[in-house]
Amino acid sequence: MLSILLFALLSHVHATDLHSWGIFDNNFGEWSEVIERDVCIVGGGASGVHAAVSLVDLNKTVVVVERNNRLGGDTHTYIHPETNSLVDIGVVIFQPLSVVYDFFEKLNLPLLNMSAVQWNVPGQPANTSQPAAMFATLRADVDFRDGTDILLQTDTSDAVTDAFQRMSDILSQYDYILHGYDLPDPVPEDLYMPYGAFIEKYNLTAAFRTIYQISQGMGDLLHVPTIYAVKYFNTGDIRALTDGYLTHAHGNNSEIYSRAGDYISYDNVLLESIVVSSNRRKNLTTEGSRAELLVSTRDEGLKLLSCTQVVLAVPPELSNLAGWDLTDQEQEVFSRYIAANGYWTGLVKNVGLNQTLTSWNAAAGTPFNIPVLPALYDLSPVGTIDDVWWIKFGANNPTLTLDQVKSYVEREIHTIQRAQNATLTKPEWLIFESHSPFHLQVAPEDIKGGFFKRLTALQGGLGGSMFYTGAAFHTQYSSLLWRFNREVLIPKMMEYW
Ligand SMILES: Cc1cc2nc3c(=O)[nH]c(=O)nc-3n(C[C@H](O)[C@H](O)[C@H](O)COP(=O)(O)OP(=O)(O)OC[C@H]3O[C@@H](n4cnc5c(N)ncnc54)[C@H](O)[C@@H]3O)c2cc1C
Repeated sequence: MLSILLFALLSHVHATDLHSWGIFDNNFGEWSEVIERDVCIVGGGASGVHAAVSLVDLNKTVVVVERNNRLGGDTHTYIHPETNSLVDIGVVIFQPLSVVYDFFEKLNLPLLNMSAVQWNVPGQPANTSQPAAMFATLRADVDFRDGTDILLQTDTSDAVTDAFQRMSDILSQYDYILHGYDLPDPVPEDLYMPYGAFIEKYNLTAAFRTIYQISQGMGDLLHVPTIYAVKYFNTGDIRALTDGYLTHAHGNNSEIYSRAGDYISYDNVLLESIVVSSNRRKNLTTEGSRAELLVSTRDEGLKLLSCTQVVLAVPPELSNLAGWDLTDQEQEVFSRYIAANGYWTGLVKNVGLNQTLTSWNAAAGTPFNIPVLPALYDLSPVGTIDDVWWIKFGANNPTLTLDQVKSYVEREIHTIQRAQNATLTKPEWLIFESHSPFHLQVAPEDIKGGFFKRLTALQGGLGGSMFYTGAAFHTQYSSLLWRFNREVLIPKMMEYW
């Protein structure tokens, strides 16, 4: 206790010497513990946890601050209480990158190439020994607003293959987009034009339906600035469509993060915790300066973290950074984000529809027959558990409440039940999660105006103490974020060791 008081007193002296306020001024040493580590990581999702494991491997001490009661962020596996069957309702697939093989191997987890094994024949029962995501069904295209069947404007398979080949060739000029946001100056117009215009310009229309189907969560994909769309569905995906995606062999991607928690030790993880205040400028010009983060924990009150470097691995919306001593540069960059889309996922049971058929939402009068959002993208049986169905719901903005989304979903399920002459039921929610806002974006003018240069210039700020990772710094793709950590984040941090 004495040492805590002494530390608090020292904090007080330094903080007030250099600034008009400090953590001590606001909190008077009212914390239960001081935790000193080399690196404080805020956010225990895909990028934060991977960064923590990578830093531990480099003999750095870490502490991870995570708001949820578990690590993993959008990676969440539902466990059916009666059968113990597993269903990943968030992250399912990984691109076959060396960083993915390495991460799975380090954590001693089984990896499966989804193309290397025989799936069930569509229309036949699921193979319950395979991950739920590998249940193949027959397909119906239906307008979820009224249940009418939609005849899709289709292209020949040769036209689709040609379009993907052309896309691959075009995107190979922009290979740098696969490694973060280090863009040329000026930014090529292709990258900030609406994706629909890019598709038309290069005659890629035959590929669009497949791309739309895989790019769930992006909302109004045709109007998204191209850079976001081509980082999300990228050349790695074009390869993986033929070579195969990877997944956890038992359909339990959450195990990545529970194992990673063991790897870094749960003593170094603060769950159900958030940063309430930060003082990252303390002693900035002095050798051995440390950043301080005051963290509110669920069970143990306030804790003071003191670290040489900080990695921010949460969505950097200003509303998510209340209490942080943001620099003018951070304030300016993060204020540009617009919450462009909403994405919700879950599982319901008691739907009573034909479990060999997925209904895909489509519309007769829209470009490429894309569905009118907000709406379900599709209604698909899990296959490995009787009468349990995936819910994947998208919107062009993130403002819908959970109750509003649920009532949309239940109405759309009734529409499909009516269309298939099935009994109307009250679906029962097994699990339901908001991932909204899904992908933070900035306006095309900002992209043209050098936003990403200012974003990437934040790395190593505050005298080499501040670093950033996560979807806003690259893309909404776990495997690409792990590669970003390996290629960009960690080398940048090492420059200051
Ligand atoms: C439904 C869905 C399916 C997906 N499927 C795939 C897939 O199959 N393959 C794939 O590669 N990618 C997939 N993604 C994308 C992938 O999940 C994201 O790219 C990845 O999770 C982003 O990592 P991140 O670290 O930026 O954010 P997250 O993984 O979301 O992690 C951020 C973490 O920070 C925490 N947090 C937020 N704010 C605070 C705060 N103030 N203080 C403390 N903690 C905070 C959050 O609770 C979360 O745990 C999917 C995403 C969704 C939503």
